[in-house]
Amino acid sequence: MAVKLPRLPYELDALEPIISAATLREHHGAHHRGYVKKLNALIKGTDLDSQSLEAIIDCSAPLASSDPKSASVFNNAAQAWNHAFYWNSLRPWNHGRDPDGELARCVTADFGDAGRLAEAFRAAALAVFGSGWVWLILDEGVLRIVSTANADTPIVHGQVPLLVMDVWEHAYYIDRRSRRDLYAAGVVDQLFNWDFAERNLLRARAGDGVGRPGPEASSGERP
Ligand code: FE
Repeated sequence: MAVKLPRLPYELDALEPIISAATLREHHGAHHRGYVKKLNALIKGTDLDSQSLEAIIDCSAPLASSDPKSASVFNNAAQAWNHAFYWNSLRPWNHGRDPDGELARCVTADFGDAGRLAEAFRAAALAVFGSGWVWLILDEGVLRIVSTANADTPIVHGQVPLLVMDVWEHAYYIDRRSRRDLYAAGVVDQLFNWDFAERNLLRARAGDGVGRPGPEASSGERP
């Protein structure tokens, strides 16, 4: 049972003008596909081959610091998971709304208002040195923004991700060159899928599928 590359939940040009079809084609069709392909090559013929992507991440994470092969498995598996979560964290340009319902209540309680959350997200994106991810997480009942380096992912740190921004250069370099600030502002202000974040929040509260991508991320194609 090889890990599959999930289909994008929208058309290639759906995120324009913030993220171009050219970026999405490369990011999903080459980078994300590459992580899935490398992972499948690494686990072929091993016990991990029959495991879910989440189980592969959980098994390889504790060994990653001492065993180079486990580090490669973890890096490619976590990147595959993080990207599936990222595609679902975005929605077509001009089709969104601000945080609403229970999520809006938590944002007000933990950040003051949605504007301050957006400001904190943009600042965190700029503060990442090198490659990484910026997440909105639920941590012991409180919303927080955290960043992870390279392939690292909150699901191995007991945190529940609600939303993520990829801040690897490959996410924005074709469109914005070195201007990560423009990419981050566009994503936060115009592409974030707050409905997805709220679904993750409610699922975590219900103790159901905590921190895992929704069913929308699970169907896919073999790379
Ligand atoms: Fe990426």
